[in-house]
Amino acid sequence: MRPIRPGDRGPAVTEIRTVLTGLDLLVPTAPGADEFDSHTERAVRAFQQSRGLSVDGRVGAETWRALDAARWRLGARTLYHAVPEPLTGEDVRSLQERLLEMGYDVGRADAIYGVRTSRAIAQFQREVGLTPDGSCGPHTMNALRRLGRKVVGGRPQWLRESDAIRQSGPTLVGRTVVIDPGHGGTDPGVVVPDGSLRWTEADLVYDLASRLEGRLAAAGVRVQLTRGPAQEDCLPDVDRTELANSLGADVFISLHVDEHVNPAAEGVATYHYGTDNGVTSATGERLAGLVQREIVARTGLRDCRTHAKAWDLLRLTRMPAVRVEVGYLTSPTDRARLVDPRFRDRVVEAVVAAVQRMYFPVERDVPTGSIDVSALRAVVAAGTVVD
Ligand SMILES: [Zn+2]
Repeated sequence: MRPIRPGDRGPAVTEIRTVLTGLDLLVPTAPGADEFDSHTERAVRAFQQSRGLSVDGRVGAETWRALDAARWRLGARTLYHAVPEPLTGEDVRSLQERLLEMGYDVGRADAIYGVRTSRAIAQFQREVGLTPDGSCGPHTMNALRRLGRKVVGGRPQWLRESDAIRQSGPTLVGRTVVIDPGHGGTDPGVVVPDGSLRWTEADLVYDLASRLEGRLAAAGVRVQLTRGPAQEDCLPDVDRTELANSLGADVFISLHVDEHVNPAAEGVATYHYGTDNGVTSATGERLAGLVQREIVARTGLRDCRTHAKAWDLLRLTRMPAVRVEVGYLTSPTDRARLVDPRFRDRVVEAVVAAVQRMYFPVERDVPTGSIDVSALRAVVAAGTVVD
């Protein structure tokens, strides 16, 4: 084939221009423009450079093949590992870039669907519960799309968590939530004398936990507390996580209140699993964000934000797990709120709303503070999502 070169006209030039325009290398002009002008030549050179081809500004057989491959948009065809002539194209490159972002090993994004890409896809398919055949068809594409941008940088095991949650639907009925009132037994946690009274963290969080238990049970959730109100020993965190794991819990919520030598320190903070080098539980982080935002919106506690921690309690639990520090018992402002049962009810409603929102698909999520938790069961029974 004679290379198509500057000065040429015809349908082949129109096609070349269309592909280059689609790649943003050529400013769109009148459709059907069929002249290989200087703009086209510059675009061809840029394209050749980006593909590692020899840069001569003409479209010979090699450049033509590369342009042809560049036409494919991800999802337009099923990708698989073809032998001996592997599939190549812009869609393969997009897929490889996406897999790299998610932490899969595809080597380099070279636009060739080789063994490594096929293996990475099979691994992804296993993680999300699809047949690991190593080819990328509509189901795999859907799974990739559903995961969206949220999981960029996430480890594969966190992907499975997020995807499983999204696939499980919005209902709370039949889910298991383990509520962990912190401390207990011989360990009262934070203790603050108040006149003749004595407030303890262990008692306050137990009260919160039992209110939460009631609300969740009313929404059809199976609830388990990690301790009773007057337990003799204080269960170590490791045992609490073991309990949650053995029950196959869907969510783990640990409740604490904080303390500080400075009585001006106040506010709510929520913790999820994560490490300093950026590894984080995507679902834990999402739940923490929802809990934090709902509590701040519904109670007016100061927003001390969410934080990643590698504590045993968060690390060893095999489900989305958060620890909430609901205010400072050492702050006169927070204490006045915490000792008010109506305030504790609002905290509990916030947590229920957050747990519910975690099961809403991201695109159908609702504004913070908008869920009427007393109506949850009816909503769920009607099979609709509030939106
Ligand atoms: Zn505590």
